[in-house]
Amino acid sequence: MGTHSWRCYFSRLTRLSVRWVRLCPQPRQGKRPGPFRQLWSYGKIIFNSLYFNVLTNWDTVLDSIFEPVYWLVDNLTRWFGVVFVCLVIALTGSVVLIVYLCVLPLIIHTYPTHWIFWHLCYGHWNLVNIVFHYYKAVTTSPGHSPQEKCDIPTVTICKKCIVPKPTRTHHCSICNACVLKMDHHCPWLNNCVGHFNHRYFFSFCLYMTMGCIYCSISAKDMFLDAYNAIESYYQTPPPHFTNEEKLFHKSLLYLWVLTSSVAVALGGLTIWHAVLITRGETSVERLINRKEKKRLKQIGKVFRNPYHHGRINNWKILFGVEKKSQWITRVLLPSSHPPRGDGLTWDCPRHRHEAMDTI
Ligand SMILES: [Zn+2]
Ligand SMILES: [Zn+2]
Repeated sequence: MGTHSWRCYFSRLTRLSVRWVRLCPQPRQGKRPGPFRQLWSYGKIIFNSLYFNVLTNWDTVLDSIFEPVYWLVDNLTRWFGVVFVCLVIALTGSVVLIVYLCVLPLIIHTYPTHWIFWHLCYGHWNLVNIVFHYYKAVTTSPGHSPQEKCDIPTVTICKKCIVPKPTRTHHCSICNACVLKMDHHCPWLNNCVGHFNHRYFFSFCLYMTMGCIYCSISAKDMFLDAYNAIESYYQTPPPHFTNEEKLFHKSLLYLWVLTSSVAVALGGLTIWHAVLITRGETSVERLINRKEKKRLKQIGKVFRNPYHHGRINNWKILFGVEKKSQWITRVLLPSSHPPRGDGLTWDCPRHRHEAMDTI
């Protein structure tokens, strides 16, 4: 705190002391206040002390008022997380079942051998990657602040956990913990995305999008046939379809609509996360850095992200790739290697000195 800040602090403290004295019940000369009046005065002091604090501002007051709302939202998200995970498993399972029962037999009976081979290889490789990365993203802890005293450099103290917060760490109110290199809390994983499961999260999004695109392209012709057949149900006289054929048509319609919608929605999210990774930012840092960029611009300085190591290097850091062959073994194939670093300390190479260069 600079001299100016200390002076401000003491002057505010003096002002507060004066106001505090005014608030306290002053006994009149020779006359004792009645018990009701005394009770009233003390009640007033207690009420005033609830918000009469040098650190209290409107944000704190609003936070306190909305505390029950936050509590409700956090708890609902925590419980809905379990429902969302079950939903992901159920929807993915239903799509896989339809592919095995309806799409694959049709491919095997109608396609040439090389196309059958391609579908069997690609489809299974994609499926294994989806299942592996989803399982790892859900079950791997994102990494939390150390609870015991240690020598790591910390930025601040978390006011909720009362533990030191290393750089890039943020508090998740849903998990009620400080998460290392926190990206966001994902309800679809019922877990926070942080240092130790960021790669699993991104790979899951990528492989799931690829799987959905693959399904919607492969089953496009079958979907159009099924759609036309469903349309013909309402013709007079209606064509004769067995119940099995009707179920087949509806399953293909469900498969195509679901996979194409997920491909669009999850594809957008995956692209957004790919942009953030390329920039060396997390979702939380994106917001912080944008504000910082604006603030520095106003005082004629340029903001440089200290965790940006270059586009390719950022991807190498995320995937934990050290040499070329690892792009295959660690990215294209399921791998449970830990990420680079411990998530507590971060290497900020050349940018540290350039961070606030004047324009
Ligand atoms: Zn915390
Ligand atoms: Zn969380």
